[in-house]
Amino acid sequence: MTTLLPPRGILLVVSGAAGTGKGTVTANLLKNHEGYAFSVSATTRPPRPGEVDGREYRFITKEAFEKEIREGNVIEYTYYCGNYYGTMKSELSKLDDGKNLILEIEVEGAMNIKRLFPEAVTVFVLPPDYETLRARLVGRGTNTADDIENRMKKALTEFSLIGQYDYAVVNRTGHAEEAAATIAAIVESEKHRVFRTLDDVKRLFPAPED
Ligand code: 5GP
Repeated sequence: MTTLLPPRGILLVVSGAAGTGKGTVTANLLKNHEGYAFSVSATTRPPRPGEVDGREYRFITKEAFEKEIREGNVIEYTYYCGNYYGTMKSELSKLDDGKNLILEIEVEGAMNIKRLFPEAVTVFVLPPDYETLRARLVGRGTNTADDIENRMKKALTEFSLIGQYDYAVVNRTGHAEEAAATIAAIVESEKHRVFRTLDDVKRLFPAPED
């Protein structure tokens, strides 16, 4: 029997340039909120200390990445600061069990996802101010000075595209749980948008024929 409950999971795109703390926000979302899964992207960049293959990313070679593209296994990908990053088609199956699926990807990928899946919800995570952004990039300590300048430039370009997103959420330093709770509230209300249930309502409660 078809019922209207429970509502389906949301395809949730979370973007924000390096240093906005979006990683901490999504980690918090996964840890403290029920019903979320993480889309593990493939990348050709080397793992940072503490990153585990298959958890943060699937770390693969350029050749392997290009083969995945050729074989049609990548929904969207980008070439970012010298490396490939892409969402694998197989990750979408995590939506099948009703979970909200988090795609933590940059702007170009986010827009590609929105084009392919107009029902996706896109959230842009912002740092509170410019200096905080720079301090976070420097404080991370894993990037070279050139890399920091590159990422700073890239960040400013990305901020100029925020108008293409559905929501903007500020990540205050030390309060990632607050930003995560805001995103969870957005997702909860998005689940109840009429367009997501319209077909089911029409089928379950057909209009009288006069
Ligand atoms: P990082 O090297 O800091 O982990 O990631 C660099 C950028 O690539 C971040 O903005 C991150 O969100 C983005 N990114 C990670 N995975 C993907 C992906 O699968 N597709 C796209 N388009 N961007 C991604």
